[in-house]
Amino acid sequence: MRIDDLEFEPLIEQETIAERINLLSVELNADYAGKTPIFIGVLNGSFLFVADLIKQITIPCEVTFTKLASYFGGTSTSRKIREDIDLSVDISGRHVIIVEDIVDTGNTLAYLIEKLKLSNPASITACSMLLKPGKLETSIEELRYVGFEIENEFVVGYGLDYKELGRNLKDIYRLTSTTGEV
Ligand code: 5GP
Repeated sequence: MRIDDLEFEPLIEQETIAERINLLSVELNADYAGKTPIFIGVLNGSFLFVADLIKQITIPCEVTFTKLASYFGGTSTSRKIREDIDLSVDISGRHVIIVEDIVDTGNTLAYLIEKLKLSNPASITACSMLLKPGKLETSIEELRYVGFEIENEFVVGYGLDYKELGRNLKDIYRLTSTTGEV
């Protein structure tokens, strides 16, 4: 499948994503029973994952979003983290679950965790739909929930974009190996 100038192939189908989300939600419902956690989705990429995950959460919870960006439209990571939308809720004394689309180098997540810690939450964990273990630059102990571990490849779909395109795709696709850098 072509998106702009690059060719992509299927990696994870929507049924597999849905099954994995069910299992993650079972864990979260058990781990956070009685804690009324706040889910903080990291925009833009996590919007579909947050929506599908939250529908399976059966314990009382709150949902909000923040917006960070470390990518500027290409297929390789840039170290700069830009903060577009700050958090609008008070998280002090609360149990926070960060919901990410994908953890690549881990710089974005590590930055957000350090920033949120300044507000003295009761606890922080992170839940990422995708993780590239081979690209991780620092181990992040808060990252307790991961949907799928993938290779060092560039992916789109299910909220993830290439040049802002492809977020609407139901499945996750990867860049075909012959078409470009990761
Ligand atoms: P990190 O800070 O962990 O290197 O990068 C995290 C952010 O980079 C993600 O939230 C996502 O926006 C972007 N990113 C990393 N890998 C990919 C990828 O394979 N595809 C897309 N579309 N974005 C990615």
